[in-house]
Amino acid sequence: MPTKSPYPDIDIPDVDLWGFIFERKNRPFPDSQVVFRDVHKPDTRVYTFADVRKAAITFGTGLRSEWDWAKNEVLALYTPNDIDVPAIIYGTLWAGGIVTPANPAYSAEELAFQLKDAEAKALVTTVAYLDTALKAAAKCGIPTNRVLVLGEKDEQRRVKHWTQIVNLSRSSYYRRRKANPDKDLAFLVYSSGTTGLPKGVMLSHRNMVSVVLQNEGGGCYVYGRDKYLAILPFYHIYALTTIVHQMLHRGFEAVVMPAFEMKTFLKAIQEHRITMVYVAPPVIVRLARDPEAEKYDLSSLLNITSGAAPLTGELVHAIHKKFGIKITQAYGLSETSPTTHIQPWDEWLTALGSVGKLVPNMTAKYISEDGTEAAPGQPGELWLSGPNVFKGYWKNPTATAASITEDGYFKTGDVGFADDQHNFYITDRLKELIKYKGFQVAPAELEGKLLAHPNVADVAVIGVMDTVNHTEVPRAYVVAAADGAKTSEAGEEIVEWLSQQVAHHKRLRGGVVFVDEIPKSASGKILRRILKERAKKEGVKA
Ligand code: AMP
Repeated sequence: MPTKSPYPDIDIPDVDLWGFIFERKNRPFPDSQVVFRDVHKPDTRVYTFADVRKAAITFGTGLRSEWDWAKNEVLALYTPNDIDVPAIIYGTLWAGGIVTPANPAYSAEELAFQLKDAEAKALVTTVAYLDTALKAAAKCGIPTNRVLVLGEKDEQRRVKHWTQIVNLSRSSYYRRRKANPDKDLAFLVYSSGTTGLPKGVMLSHRNMVSVVLQNEGGGCYVYGRDKYLAILPFYHIYALTTIVHQMLHRGFEAVVMPAFEMKTFLKAIQEHRITMVYVAPPVIVRLARDPEAEKYDLSSLLNITSGAAPLTGELVHAIHKKFGIKITQAYGLSETSPTTHIQPWDEWLTALGSVGKLVPNMTAKYISEDGTEAAPGQPGELWLSGPNVFKGYWKNPTATAASITEDGYFKTGDVGFADDQHNFYITDRLKELIKYKGFQVAPAELEGKLLAHPNVADVAVIGVMDTVNHTEVPRAYVVAAADGAKTSEAGEEIVEWLSQQVAHHKRLRGGVVFVDEIPKSASGKILRRILKERAKKEGVKA
């Protein structure tokens, strides 16, 4: 029997994301509410709710006036966090566009893959990333005049600043383009899903509106008390939902950090009296271990929400013992916008290690290996249905059909069980995906690249657990070329060679192991389970 969320269903209004945020009746906070503050320029770089709306409308109008932006055209973002990002996102939505955010750690080739796949028509970046952005844009036919910067202006005047895209006609001809909440997409985020290369995850306006409301539960935020620190990357759906949309919907201030940096993080909590932070587990590992943390006053911090990768109960205890801070977990995926489970504010200790309870309007099934539903309390693959489940993979009906059932259940590829109090625990992962500190690494992508190395005849990449750093790391099992070396130096050379081509988080931190053959099924599918068993015995060098 499918299990329903223990919470009553909520009404999801039939509006698009812009309407939901900016045309909301009875908004419980004023236009002057500060929503985004730059951690490095807290006095001068600040957006109120009204500022975001105004800047977004100006940009959206400019997109239509200067570039004749068509409905459903895709704008790509390739930038570290910046307080300009929400206005650019909402401006694109105002103009009827779709946003695809990319990791700024990507190489030109990795970025070009996403730009091409998403058919992006424009790219917004920062001066520091402009060279790579221009290279990638050139590879995909995006002209230089369709590349913009945010934050600082480009002194060399190669490209325009995003605020220079304005209404040239000076007429009030342009109105906002309303989206069909269910049919039109708001975001294309990239995830490898259960198998293969990164794919565009189609998130509709309705998906986003739903998830923001589904996240509301628990009543754990208080006006006049709470302030958030934004360290999660805005290019990941976790931050898009919990920071970009949620701050604009709830009306709270988020102090925005461009990237995680320990001292800035601690100082910001102390100086801004931060009460809430969303993180991935590595931040908690740092807090538990780094003596620097004890030099700062973190007493304002009431709650840390951890998601995106597994977190152990020991770490939750360690942080509470040391700082008195409560840690709750949440779970979700790019394909579910992302939140599907949240640990209730007051149950963090009683259900230690759980990733929480199903959010409202969701139903779950647990499917055993034989394809039947698992008995209550028994582990199975988690299948989920609800209004936050994505529309499918962009231009990829095969992958969509393989991941969403006809009756609307999305197959997460994660294995777990729920106890009789509706607490969900993850016990395993069926899918290929590797999570290095919350960042996705798609084995198929690395395998594809590694096969181009002269000493690699065959290869399989799996995730192995680095228990010291509490994260999975990618390891390659390599069949050396006929006359190739199998020494540790030869392995290190392959690691180094790949590092030159991929984003930092995709490096082979689990090393290279030479093998005689890659275990495969009769149909040629890599039998990753066999390698995972082998890796457990081999361990990871810290
Ligand atoms: P992404 O699409 O990048 O958000 O990655 C989704 C995947 O991250 C899930 O399928 C899980 O494997 C993993 N994940 C997310 N949240 C958690 C969590 N709280 N605990 C364990 N794994 C998680």
